[in-house]
Amino acid sequence: MTDIEKKFGSIENAVKEAIKFHGKCKYTPGIIIGVYMLDFGLKKFYEEFKEKEGNPVRFNVVCETDWCLPDVFQILMHLTLGNRYMHIVKTDGKFAYALYDRKDGNGVRVFINLEKLNKDGEIYKFFTRTRDNIVHTDAKIRSLSNRKIFYEYMDIADKFEIFGYKKVHVNIPAKVEYLPAKICKICGESFLSKDKEICLTCSGEKKAYFTYL
Ligand SMILES: [Zn+2]
Repeated sequence: MTDIEKKFGSIENAVKEAIKFHGKCKYTPGIIIGVYMLDFGLKKFYEEFKEKEGNPVRFNVVCETDWCLPDVFQILMHLTLGNRYMHIVKTDGKFAYALYDRKDGNGVRVFINLEKLNKDGEIYKFFTRTRDNIVHTDAKIRSLSNRKIFYEYMDIADKFEIFGYKKVHVNIPAKVEYLPAKICKICGESFLSKDKEICLTCSGEKKAYFTYL
């Protein structure tokens, strides 16, 4: 029994939970495959770090995409952006993650092994963004494609074979700098800064993500 099966009764239950949390199409490929991908990562973690088996490891995760994958870790592992046990590092936007022990930074980085995928299949097209463009605009066609991916994936006997992994040390400091709060002389809001008196939005030093209506 895998860790996810132990925690949720079955991997199917875990998928259901994650889909519910994600709140979109019940065949969302990134969520379904993401749950198996997490299960794979946990298995590999304990295989590689045998001494940690039996001791509850406090995990952190780095997701390399903000598509789907973060939701899997948030709902199933309670590694969230809010509790800061999740980081998103979108350097290349890969569908990959690193799950590691927050105590020593050591863990496994898990990725999609494209070589294991059928090049004509819908899963391959999904991960290489070569599905028909219409999936981005037509919800019905997207949902059909998602279903196709689901059944294609369910047909693979060894669900883990499409994943690869490497042992890694994650170079993100466990403790981030705790910045003091200042009160902006212009907007009066509290903001985080070591030395500024005016927030970056008011000073125009950074372009605001919004414009006032
Ligand atoms: Zn301000």
